[in-house]
Amino acid sequence: MKDCIFCKIIRGEIPSERYYEDEDMIVIKDIEPKAKLHYLCIPKTHFALLSEMDGEKAELLKRCFEKIAALQEKLGLRDGYRIIVNQGENGGQSVRHLHIHLLGGEKLTGF
Ligand code: AMP
Ligand code: ZN
Repeated sequence: MKDCIFCKIIRGEIPSERYYEDEDMIVIKDIEPKAKLHYLCIPKTHFALLSEMDGEKAELLKRCFEKIAALQEKLGLRDGYRIIVNQGENGGQSVRHLHIHLLGGEKLTGF
């Protein structure tokens, strides 16, 4: 989508350090980290909400979660991590392109 910040990052119009990329997704560091390690896994298909999910998007997200699990060591998250997917206004979603937060690198509290 033209004006979506994450689509711009995926297209390379906004620079980012990519820790992983393939045909389904990219993994970048969050610009405002909420933990010692804070990554964003951003699927390459633009959609905002889980409620928009169809079979194809469900398969895409399945692959994203499988790849996140496989990347755990490489991302420095071997001792565990937290996944957050904010949804809509009350969920605190500021970017309307579905993305998966990966938080770790330290013992997380506050949940
Ligand atoms: P959410 O609030 O769940 O929509 O998460 C959006 C996240 O994107 C926030 O944690 C922001 O810090 C992060 N963010 C926004 N712009 C960028 C950017 N250019 N590069 C990396 N992370 C970003
Ligand atoms: Zn987008």
